[in-house]
Amino acid sequence: MLSRGGPAEKQESEDRECRQRRRASRRAYRIAHKREIRERLRLKWRTDPSYRERQRARRQKRQREVHLKADYGISLEDYHAMLARQGGACAICRRKFDQTPCVDHCHSSGKVRGLLCRKCNIGLGFCKDDLKLMRAATAYLESSQSAPPRAPSRCPGA
Ligand SMILES: [Zn+2]
Repeated sequence: MLSRGGPAEKQESEDRECRQRRRASRRAYRIAHKREIRERLRLKWRTDPSYRERQRARRQKRQREVHLKADYGISLEDYHAMLARQGGACAICRRKFDQTPCVDHCHSSGKVRGLLCRKCNIGLGFCKDDLKLMRAATAYLESSQSAPPRAPSRCPGA
C-alpha cells in the first residue's frame, strides 16, 4: 500500500506531534513544580471567592455526572435532555421543579422512566411501583369523593 504523505497529512502529523510535545512539557512542568502549584491554588482558594465558587460549581457538576452515570447509567446531557422534554416539570403532577428533580427508574429493570418531584417520587416509592395498589388507591379516593360524608366513628372502648 502506498503511504499518503501529501501536504495535508504531513501538516496533520506535525500538529499532532506538536500537541503531544506541548502536553508532555506541561505535564513535566506540573510534576517539577507540584508543591508551588498546590500552594498557589491553596492561596487562591483562601483569598479569591469567585475562584472558590467556580471550583465548587465544577466539583458539584462532576459529582452529579458521576452519580447519574453510576446510579442510572445516564449522562448529564441525557438528564438535561429529559428535563427539557418534560418542560422542566414533574412527569406526574406537572409542577415546575423548585428543587433538584428525582431520577425515577424501574427497580427491576433499572430503566430510567423520567424526572419526578420529591413528593411524586416518594408517593411511587410508598406504593412500591405496584400498579394494582395504585389503582386500588385511586378507586378508594374516587369512591370517597362520590359517597356522602360519614359520621365520625367512635372507638368501642371510649
Ligand atoms: Zn410531582
